Amino acid sequence: MTVRPVSRPERGWQVQIYLLEVVYGLGVTFRHFFTNLWRHSAALAGLKTEPGAVTIQYPEDPPALGVRARTRHRILSRPDGTPRCTACLLCETICPARCIRITAEESPDPLIEKRAKTFDLDLGLCVFCGYCVEACPVDAIRMDTNDLRIPSFDRRGMIWSLDKLMGKG
Ligand code: SF4
Ligand code: SF4
Repeated sequence: MTVRPVSRPERGWQVQIYLLEVVYGLGVTFRHFFTNLWRHSAALAGLKTEPGAVTIQYPEDPPALGVRARTRHRILSRPDGTPRCTACLLCETICPARCIRITAEESPDPLIEKRAKTFDLDLGLCVFCGYCVEACPVDAIRMDTNDLRIPSFDRRGMIWSLDKLMGKG
């Protein structure tokens, strides 16, 4: 295998003093500002159909997502309110990020072998691949909430419990 070194660009005095780079950066900002100003004005005047770029006021004004977008998970419930999950552990097994932790218990319903006692999903580790949804044999987990506002001030806050995933927490 041959190693091809990547050359670093020379940092001349123009770059080292930063002042010219700041001016250059401001030039780029102003170029975008006036280009967008022209595009919006032209669209308002009916000269163009395409308006300029728009700043999305996220998270107050979330963007429209595609119908197939994978967003925050939810666990579906049965008509009696219990989780549809049968604790088969397929989602935990297939998850590439190892972010699902399930403990199972016996179900009081004789027609159901097991149910989830705890179901913790660490959204701080999740890569939103959707494998868990694909693997679930009983359609108990979906990623169709259209909710991507999941940040937290600490890592524990990113771990969603069964109640929270069912919309009860
Ligand atoms: S979306 Fe992917 S990474 Fe996230 S919990 Fe499901 S399987 Fe794991
Ligand atoms: S694959 Fe479905 S039924 Fe199985 S543990 Fe995961 S959510 Fe529950």
